[in-house]
Amino acid sequence: MFWNNHIETLSDDELAALQLKRLKWTIRQAEKVPFYRTQLREAGLHADDIRSLDDAGRLPFTRKQDLREGYPFGFFAVPLKQIVRIHTTSGTTGKPTVVGYTRQDLDNWAEMMARDLTMVGLSDDDVFQNALGYGLFTGGLGFHYGAEKIGMTVIPSATGNTKRQIEMIMDFGVTAINSTPSYGMRLAEVAEEMGVELDTLRVGIFGAEPWSDNMRKELEERLGITAYDSYGMSEMYGPGASFECEERNGLHFWHDSYLVEIIDPETGEVLGPGERGELVVTPLVKEAMPLIRYRTGDITMLMEDRCPCGRGQKIARIMGRSDDMLVIRGVNVFPSQIEHVLLSLPEVGEQFMVYIDRMHHLDEMNIEVEINRECFSGELKDLAKLQKRVAGALRDTLGLRTSVTLVEPGTLPRFEGKAKRVIDRRGEVW
Ligand SMILES: [Zn+2]
Repeated sequence: MFWNNHIETLSDDELAALQLKRLKWTIRQAEKVPFYRTQLREAGLHADDIRSLDDAGRLPFTRKQDLREGYPFGFFAVPLKQIVRIHTTSGTTGKPTVVGYTRQDLDNWAEMMARDLTMVGLSDDDVFQNALGYGLFTGGLGFHYGAEKIGMTVIPSATGNTKRQIEMIMDFGVTAINSTPSYGMRLAEVAEEMGVELDTLRVGIFGAEPWSDNMRKELEERLGITAYDSYGMSEMYGPGASFECEERNGLHFWHDSYLVEIIDPETGEVLGPGERGELVVTPLVKEAMPLIRYRTGDITMLMEDRCPCGRGQKIARIMGRSDDMLVIRGVNVFPSQIEHVLLSLPEVGEQFMVYIDRMHHLDEMNIEVEINRECFSGELKDLAKLQKRVAGALRDTLGLRTSVTLVEPGTLPRFEGKAKRVIDRRGEVW
């Protein structure tokens, strides 16, 4: 099903012409921002120098640090009078990034979300429980307006009060739920504790943190849903820039609204389809806060095969952020790989924590993982064999020796928003 059949299935030529026109518009819009005026002058580039999409590679990159330095409104290309909403990133390190929206931006964003939700088979027949944070975080409101736009019955439940969330699913006949994957697991766990079946639920949408295909299987089985991956970030409006279709094999990007590149994070060189690297995005319709070649830090690749659904080129599911990537004794490890291994072992649960220390100049990774409730007999002492098996599976996939600690079910922290499963203590002084 299509929300906007014409724009979602443009031919390659139509799309390229539209992208070029919009790229030039974006550069003109960016020239209203002092940071870009300087950058473009130094690069000796004007909008008129961009004659084909290949010329985009001559444009300078924008980094997250640049946005932070523009705090609060340094990247706005329109007067505050025209800004109708502000969101910020969480700002876990230093000042948050502030993003602003004109009325047109909010319309564009809701239009994209409407396409996404329609693409996964949702419509005005559905009851949608939006269990993402509302507020400065873009997740809650982003989905909210897209879901309303297609006429769904929206329940702005936000996060927290998990038992009440389960009751709402049952009492209101919820058919689709949206949350982080870790909160989705929490919902499943609480529903199981309450001994209830969520019969009406059929679709789950999960995003805001990388998650593995084994996590998908687990969520689908335990919640009785088909699970879809959603991707976006505040700098691209928020969620909805990219979304799985019913094929569930990679995420469609809305190429009419974003120019997508994959680069080698070290050299900045543009990579081709099938080559994994850092996602770089130039939004093509953003009025309030145009960005040029924004380095997302997220690791993925453009997919070579065209999707049978007829929409444009897909990206692979996000493997992790380049700053989530752990380098342990010289080996690159993403937390999503650890999750993937643990979920392939039925004896352990999906709850885990990773601790990294430096002992005697060597990196040591210890993984605490909960034993599955059904496999837990109440005693930990007979579990040496299982511990070995988990460590072996991790070694096979990661190419790295780790130590594994099995813990009792229900003892590790649960997360309602984005999960923070990695504690890197290497920088700390002991
Ligand atoms: Zn598709």
